[in-house]
Amino acid sequence: MGQVIKGKPVADAITAELQKDVEALKAQGIMPKLKIVRVGAREDDLSYERGALARMEKCGIAAEVLELPVDIEQADFVKELKAVNDDPSVHGILLFRPLPKQLDMEEIKFVVDAVKDIDCMNPLNAEKIFEGDKTGYPPCTSQACVEILDHYGVELKGKKVAVVGRSMVVGKPLAMLLLDKNATVTICHSRTTDLPAVCRENEVVVAAVGRAEMVKGDFIKEGAVVIDVGINVNAEGKLCGDVAFDECVDKASMITPVPAGVGSVTTSVLAKHVVKACKQLNGIQ
Ligand code: NAP
Repeated sequence: MGQVIKGKPVADAITAELQKDVEALKAQGIMPKLKIVRVGAREDDLSYERGALARMEKCGIAAEVLELPVDIEQADFVKELKAVNDDPSVHGILLFRPLPKQLDMEEIKFVVDAVKDIDCMNPLNAEKIFEGDKTGYPPCTSQACVEILDHYGVELKGKKVAVVGRSMVVGKPLAMLLLDKNATVTICHSRTTDLPAVCRENEVVVAAVGRAEMVKGDFIKEGAVVIDVGINVNAEGKLCGDVAFDECVDKASMITPVPAGVGSVTTSVLAKHVVKACKQLNGIQ
């Protein structure tokens, strides 16, 4: 049976590092601060927000939430977001997406300066990921996958990795991060022919599909590492990932669970990005 690699030890290790960093910043009179901008009160946003606020508190990072009405108009929203962006006490900004339909992301994605854009909304940060420019901020979930692989000592250099899913939030940026670590990356999607066979060729398989338990045992090569990004509810109403855990755990050498896997690392990455933004804005290496 494969080793079940949980997110908590990874999150704890990142948090411990950050606590030291934040103490050092505070000693210089600098208080790192996150501002969350939420439009409306969707339950999944509120749940992530609670987790994020708790993590910031643990790390010693200040955090505030700006809640805006769900029917806010574009011009008013842009004005509010600009004010947050221009606030010198704010270092990192997290805007929950998707936004209500009346709001136009084409304008909004450029409002937050790249240096404060800690969850990769501004295309400048996407470009930095493609360039391998480490001053940027990959989306927290894609970075969380890399943190897990690093923490559990999975060497990626020269390894074959399949990323199933090509969204701008997970699959594509993650593929670039893995490429940067010298893995040989195959990006799979809904039109990939014979997906099980393609996945079976790889030593690491990352599932970021959004389909409950779609990655079955026959997708996994003996001894592969399996990272499950998915958060779904299965037919029995239970939280589950994109990987059929019971079928894959015996074949994998390591596998992340759902819940308690990738999802438990994302707020630590968010905190890490706030501290990184704070350092960059203060000219600290
Ligand atoms: P998304 O935007 O819906 O993208 C899904 C991707 O999966 C698409 O590229 C799609 O291919 C591909 N896909 C769909 N059906 C497929 C199939 N049958 N075979 C192969 N590929 C298929 O989803 P996302 O935002 O990337 O999220 C993916 C999953 O991660 C979801 O379960 C989401 O809940 C979860 N998630 C978790 C976290 C976390 O913190 N753990 C954060 C964000 C998201 P096409 O491009 O061809 O359509």
